[in-house]
Amino acid sequence: MERVDVLVVGAGLGGLSASMFLALEGVNVLTVERHPGTSLHPRASGQTPRTMELYRFAGIDQKVLGVSERASRGLRITVASSLNGTVFHRIVDDLDEFDLSAATAAPWGMAGQDVVEPILLERAREAGAQVRFSTELVSFSQDDDGVTAVLRSRDSGEETSVRASYLVAADGGRGRIREALGIGTSGVGTISRSIGIVFDADLGDRLLPGVTDLFYLQGPEFTGALVNTDIPGRYVCSVDVPEGVDALPEERLVQLIRAATDLPDLEPKIQWTGMWEMAARIADRFAAGRVFLVGDAAKVTPPTGGMGGNTAVGDGHDIAWKLAAVLRGDAGPGLLDSYEAERKPIAEMVVNTSLHNAKERLVPDLDLTGLAEPVDQVALTLGFRYRSGAVLAEDDDVVENPVEPSGRPGFRAPHVPVGTGSTWDFLGHSWVLFSPGGWRDAVSQVRAETGIALEYQEIDDPLFRGRFGLGDGGATLVRPDGIVAWRCPDGAADPAGTLWDVLARVLSR
Ligand SMILES: Cc1cc2nc3c(=O)[nH]c(=O)nc-3n(C[C@H](O)[C@H](O)[C@H](O)COP(=O)(O)OP(=O)(O)OC[C@H]3O[C@@H](n4cnc5c(N)ncnc54)[C@H](O)[C@@H]3O)c2cc1C
Repeated sequence: MERVDVLVVGAGLGGLSASMFLALEGVNVLTVERHPGTSLHPRASGQTPRTMELYRFAGIDQKVLGVSERASRGLRITVASSLNGTVFHRIVDDLDEFDLSAATAAPWGMAGQDVVEPILLERAREAGAQVRFSTELVSFSQDDDGVTAVLRSRDSGEETSVRASYLVAADGGRGRIREALGIGTSGVGTISRSIGIVFDADLGDRLLPGVTDLFYLQGPEFTGALVNTDIPGRYVCSVDVPEGVDALPEERLVQLIRAATDLPDLEPKIQWTGMWEMAARIADRFAAGRVFLVGDAAKVTPPTGGMGGNTAVGDGHDIAWKLAAVLRGDAGPGLLDSYEAERKPIAEMVVNTSLHNAKERLVPDLDLTGLAEPVDQVALTLGFRYRSGAVLAEDDDVVENPVEPSGRPGFRAPHVPVGTGSTWDFLGHSWVLFSPGGWRDAVSQVRAETGIALEYQEIDDPLFRGRFGLGDGGATLVRPDGIVAWRCPDGAADPAGTLWDVLARVLSR
């Protein structure tokens, strides 16, 4: 029987991210995907600076920026009756509204899922991941030592078994692994069903060239959305369809596109159509034994807010570095409990905020009684906080303004300019202890004794001290994902002993 460390099911943004980050950590990972290749539909367009920080860790940030002409040119989001009709509301007029350069060196990206997935795939394979397309998971079982899975080639029909220490379920919103584990969901559920239409046409100046120009349409004929893509002359239109409708005849699609664009004689060339469901659903648990749910398998969020793909990448990275640490022996299995503890609250904030956006932009009569208030988009992107055993938190705040970072454990490490770079240049590949001074020997000693990849960065300038909240002899320990694990603002009597103890706690050693 084939043996791997980790089996990943699904090669969407979640699965490919998990595979890539696992392979970059040296983990023997096999990914299977039932489709013959990556996504043809540019559905999840847009990368938050947090996603770009993670892509930078993998060395693919510049490639992702490079495949989207629109990346640096801005964003417009409009709610209107049609492209030329009544404008009800302009939500975003320029990406500068979300200028986060004070909080991060990473930019926003605008690339679609269809052009990003091949970049993730290439990097994953380069790093040693096996990715098998046209291959599906048929069944699996787990015991105390691992997971045994049956795979089927969709080309030959041949079934084979594979044994893995862990299974990452990145099988999307319609995947079966969650159900097979007996994990239920909660949330608003299905809101609407839509048909996505990718088409080529000459829309003249109906949409702004260069920038991402997204229209939510609340027209007399339909509710939907229309947006340009990275390919000039190519657009995506999504239109709500009633229950029971699984396809529309081409004539009807053309009619809808003409109504949406206000171009009655337009002859659009339909490239692709597919059904999708706008829904809000969160799995009750994100893990069961040796199986971890990532991306849409763990939660489905309305696309209003563009966070589904971004959080899939975040989930993939989170489970990858933690599994790698456990497989290497740096951490005890207890570290894996922090996956759900950290990622489920993020999923809840994302889903709630996207639901509020959906009500504002698309479905005015959506009943959100009792739903938590939305979280500010900037705080959600870079000012989120993790609470788990892998962070030694000082207080209970849930989010902060990342432009004024506090340096507290659970939040992202502050971005502080250092020379021509940033404190973030040191992150992503190891644990890093930052200090104005006094911890060099302790770090060397603990690294030698534990074998854990642990770096030391001594920076002594007022901005660094202020943003990290450190006085003389203080220190901040940052995890491989850039999150502050622990801080001691005023130094410790026994630096090596203290660091040993902290690492033992946050890594469940
Ligand atoms: C119209 C639309 C617009 C969107 N817009 C945005 C946006 O602007 N920004 C954003 O961030 N997100 C957006 N999203 C959401 C985003 O596309 C998803 O959140 C994202 O694709 C989730 O990635 P994933 O890897 O979890 O799942 P998926 O991309 O769905 O991948 C799951 C994969 O698992 C495979 N699979 C399932 N079962 C098996 C099996 N048994 N064996 C093998 N393979 C299997 C599937 O074939 C699939 O390829 C949008 C979604 C839609 C539908």
